[in-house]
Amino acid sequence: MKLSWRVILLWTLPALVIGFFVWQGAFAGAGDAGGTNTASTRMTYGRFLEYLDANRVTKVDLYDGGRTAIVQATDPELDDRMQRLRVDLPINSPELIAKIRDSGISLDSHPVRNDGAIWGILGNLVFPVLLLGGLFFLFRRSGNAPGGPGQAMNFGKSKARFAMEAKTGVMFDDVAGIEEAKEELQEVVTFLKQPEKFTAVGARIPKGVLLIGPPGTGKTMLAKAIAGEAGVPFFSISGSEFVEMFVGVGASRVRDLFKKAKENAPCLIFIDEIDAVGRQRGAGIGGGNDEREQTLNQLLTEMDGFEGNTGIIIIAATNRPDVLDSALLRPGRFDRQVTVDAPDLKGRISILDVHARNKKLATEISLESIARRTPGFTGADLANLLNEAAILTARRRKEAITMLEINDAVDRVVAGMEGTPLVDSKSKRLIAYHEVGHAMVGTLLKDHDPVQKVTLIPRGQAQGLTWFTPDEEQGLVTKSALKARITAALGGRAAEEVVFGDSEVTTGAGGDLQQVAGMARQMVTRFGMSSLGLLSLESQGGEVFLGGGFTSRSEYSEVVAAKIDEQVRQIAEQCHQDAIAILKQNREVVDRLVDLLIEKETIDGEEFRQIVAEYTVVPEKEQFIPQL
Ligand code: ADP
Ligand code: ZN
Repeated sequence: MKLSWRVILLWTLPALVIGFFVWQGAFAGAGDAGGTNTASTRMTYGRFLEYLDANRVTKVDLYDGGRTAIVQATDPELDDRMQRLRVDLPINSPELIAKIRDSGISLDSHPVRNDGAIWGILGNLVFPVLLLGGLFFLFRRSGNAPGGPGQAMNFGKSKARFAMEAKTGVMFDDVAGIEEAKEELQEVVTFLKQPEKFTAVGARIPKGVLLIGPPGTGKTMLAKAIAGEAGVPFFSISGSEFVEMFVGVGASRVRDLFKKAKENAPCLIFIDEIDAVGRQRGAGIGGGNDEREQTLNQLLTEMDGFEGNTGIIIIAATNRPDVLDSALLRPGRFDRQVTVDAPDLKGRISILDVHARNKKLATEISLESIARRTPGFTGADLANLLNEAAILTARRRKEAITMLEINDAVDRVVAGMEGTPLVDSKSKRLIAYHEVGHAMVGTLLKDHDPVQKVTLIPRGQAQGLTWFTPDEEQGLVTKSALKARITAALGGRAAEEVVFGDSEVTTGAGGDLQQVAGMARQMVTRFGMSSLGLLSLESQGGEVFLGGGFTSRSEYSEVVAAKIDEQVRQIAEQCHQDAIAILKQNREVVDRLVDLLIEKETIDGEEFRQIVAEYTVVPEKEQFIPQL
């Protein structure tokens, strides 16, 4: 068990503070030292001098470095009874001491009483010691306690940081929307449950399954569901945890993991982020990483070392199968691959259905309409979305989640927190023109997705937003759809130019221009949609430092690079001109929409289209499809 320093610091800091106060208290107590004697009554310094002169004082005990005295004197008002009185003395009074001594009064000086202070210092130590002891105790308990059903437990031995769940409690029913993956993995459940079915006919049971897909699509959940359905223990570790600073630790972890798994067979081992260890050996900048390679080699050795019918199935997850070492994908290792993609519309409906089970939804809510609004959302995003909506509902003290909360939650998940709208001003007007520019161009271009809403309520980094309803499952996108998107993206800047003039344009279009550049470049270099012809000049992504190798970039000469830039520039320029033309020709309705937007702050797509339709100056749409 690793005892993190942060935890220790956080725990000892309050202890030190408490100790300090205890110590302070002790110090204050020292000044009061005499008070523990009978001398609770005080006497002024002046009275003390009078008593001295009257020879009433019989004894003086000095405390606190001479600042306090306990004086024994006879009191005339109390029948000359002996009194012990406490006097605060002026700090420097050597004459007084001399006078007392001369009068033959018994004089004594006492050092600062220390027992209280000692307690303070001890307190200082005792608290942290107690807390550290407590911490240690806690850790020991959690380390050694036998894990009950469904309880995760960590093995303290040799720093192997893997977790075991005796029962995951997850079933296939809890994982929705990825039916093909589930079907493929159904067989794995049978391997674990009834291996004899397969071995009887001489089949070799596969050892490893690789789940490929972006984060949040439910890969971990699927693996847990397999273990849950088969009723076997679930061992899990993350690839990034294998890679330690010290050479040899990762490899020994792999050994421990497999040892424990064999003791618990049949069982399932889940390795998350396997690309962290399983990357192509010797790739990436700066050469290979010894530790990673050792860990990977150990993993391969272990996988080869047990027979297929040991009852252990290894499931690994990654979103970068392209960087994996080919040795991992050989027969007898991770030879089965199952893709777990972001869900489609139907998938999203069923995932929402799963997560709506424990939430209170208003009856008017249709999960389908939520699913329609959320293309590209993964299972984790959808779960998060419903949770955000539930939080909003509770905050608004409503009985059940309504579509209002759902829509707010979607906006928030996609675009960030809502800000306060600007008051009417020139910049608000400019933002309104910018957004209406996007929406107008998007509406008038035949191949563009419909406007969902235009709003001046800021969100995240954006001062205003135009939402389009994306076409469901954009598997294939046509050239004219791409051009329409570029034109609409330039519609914001174009509106600024048309209305306020060239010198008044703002930085607001920065994000738009980035998108434009990206789309136009891909049209040229990847999709063969320019006069450069049917060339694929760049592959997607493939950053060198991730170990993907030096595939992308510099596959073409400087001359070609210049030609690409020229083509990209041409596409952007043409679309820009088209956007300007559309806005100029529809200036009247643009102005009206801007006024309405400033007044209402949000216009929804339906109303927007209705108003646009009233002004049927809508020209031949084809005219605006830029020709290259
Ligand atoms: P991954 O391992 O692919 O990154 P997880 O399995 O950790 O994703 O998913 C995170 C969370 O998202 C899950 O706990 C679950 O609540 C939700 N989730 C993701 N995919 C699904 C799905 N297909 N069905 C239901 N819930 C899902
Ligand atoms: Zn914009």
